[in-house]
Amino acid sequence: MASLEGLTEAQIDELRQVLRQRQDADGVQRLIMAPMAEQGSCPRCQSSRKVKHGTEFGAQCFRCKDCGKTFTATTGTPFHRLRNKSNLLENAACIADGLSVRKTAARLGFSVQKTFRWRHRFLDFLDQQKPSALAGIVAVDETFFPVSYKGQRKSMPRTPKKRGGKAKDGAGTEKTAVVVAVQRGTQVVFDQVLERTTGADLTEALRPVLGTDAVLSTDGNAAYWTVAEDLQVESGYFVSQYHGKGGHGPGHVQSVNRYDSSLKPWMTRFRGVATKYLANYLGWRRLLDRFKDQLTPE
Ligand SMILES: [Zn+2]
Repeated sequence: MASLEGLTEAQIDELRQVLRQRQDADGVQRLIMAPMAEQGSCPRCQSSRKVKHGTEFGAQCFRCKDCGKTFTATTGTPFHRLRNKSNLLENAACIADGLSVRKTAARLGFSVQKTFRWRHRFLDFLDQQKPSALAGIVAVDETFFPVSYKGQRKSMPRTPKKRGGKAKDGAGTEKTAVVVAVQRGTQVVFDQVLERTTGADLTEALRPVLGTDAVLSTDGNAAYWTVAEDLQVESGYFVSQYHGKGGHGPGHVQSVNRYDSSLKPWMTRFRGVATKYLANYLGWRRLLDRFKDQLTPE
């Protein structure tokens, strides 16, 4: 403590960084490692009989006494076999703030490539987090994103136009369709990237989440008649005289329009999302929208 007096400005910065990392490492330890040591069970056979079995990437390893498999607290999570775990909280803070890869890289002191890998490991996981069921009035609509092969060096399609089922807007730009379903009056949102926007594709996309007690609410696209019939749900729609205006009947799609109109501007910060990662970004947006200001890195 006495030697703190003699530190230079640069040394103080360095010290501050070391202390923060130390604190973050403790935080990560508390969040994911400690509960495992107490009550965690084997990811393979769910047995809770385990013994300590060395360490791996700085995490305590366990060996299941019943099936003999080894595992850590992070087996089956995006954090598995990840180095620099002490950066997890800072990285999570950047995700909560919706920062770009470049800004996140600067904050973490990582390369852009490494930050990108971390980013998509998390987002892959978020993509899997979707509501398992939508009930009540469910407003459904499609939204479109420009097709982008950003960052894709290998196997560029020579004639992108021939790739399956991409719609085009009036300007001739290729688009990828996404169906968005919002449980009206809630923050519960489901979405799915589509190959095509046919009734059959929409049906398959919505089948896992639309219960028979749901009431489908659409803008009147005839494809949804097929969906309602196949999934045996009630449906209503509101068609206004001017597209995009009005919508006060029981079948309006305002909640899904509202979601879409905050999704689009949010996406612009990434300056064109590669189509193959689109689902990941949608998962990220669902997380931010669901928890809003209550979202913490932890
Ligand atoms: Zn086991």
